[in-house]
Amino acid sequence: MNSAPADIDAVSAPPAHDSVTPSVLRGVMSRFATGVTVITVGGEHLHAMTANAFSSVSLDPPSVLCSVGHGAVMHKALTSAGRFAVNILGAEQEPLARHFADNKRTLGAAQFDDVAWAPGERTGAPLLGGSLAWLECELTAAHSFGDHTIFIGTVLAAGQTGDGQGLLFVDGRFGKPELSGR
Ligand SMILES: Cc1cc2nc3c(=O)[nH]c(=O)nc-3n(C[C@H](O)[C@H](O)[C@H](O)COP(=O)(O)OP(=O)(O)OC[C@H]3O[C@@H](n4cnc5c(N)ncnc54)[C@H](O)[C@@H]3O)c2cc1C
Repeated sequence: MNSAPADIDAVSAPPAHDSVTPSVLRGVMSRFATGVTVITVGGEHLHAMTANAFSSVSLDPPSVLCSVGHGAVMHKALTSAGRFAVNILGAEQEPLARHFADNKRTLGAAQFDDVAWAPGERTGAPLLGGSLAWLECELTAAHSFGDHTIFIGTVLAAGQTGDGQGLLFVDGRFGKPELSGR
């Protein structure tokens, strides 16, 4: 077994696993500012869900990941459909983010009432009007760990539709970026 460098050994030991309760981890991760996406699935599994556990994975092949809770309706929809889209929300789309994170919304096509969208050419998954950018993906791999599954999608098509600012999520709140010059 490789031994850790002496200076790392000197650092206090990490807390026991049991002390990292869900609320501790939620609190810590809430300090990590993210953008906000809405993941969508089309066709007979028509569904959408707000998600910020989203990241690029690889440029070649182009791929992204999202992490979805086992209990979410999206988990089954995504697994069944095998294709999905990711909509990157703009700063003005907080109501949309709240809507697709609301576990009291109706299922199926009704959740898209009052939402402008068009089916993506490659996946049929809803591309939401007003989003800053979108990706259409083919589900390539799924890794279940703990209470979530990491879904990796190969990007079939992607584009930017707006040049506005992105919607942020940090400290449990939505916000708009206040960036200094580029
Ligand atoms: C900023 C932000 C980021 C988030 N990021 C993530 C993320 O990265 N990953 C993640 O997993 N979650 C994330 N969430 C949480 C997620 O958006 C919500 O939990 C969302 O409601 C889950 O969507 P869902 O439709 O898949 O499941 P649900 O909300 O559980 O279900 C939707 C609707 O279907 C109903 N329903 C459920 N099961 C049945 C059934 N069998 N028959 C009939 N009706 C049923 C529910 O009552 C509800 O009305 C995030 C939330 C926010 C605010």
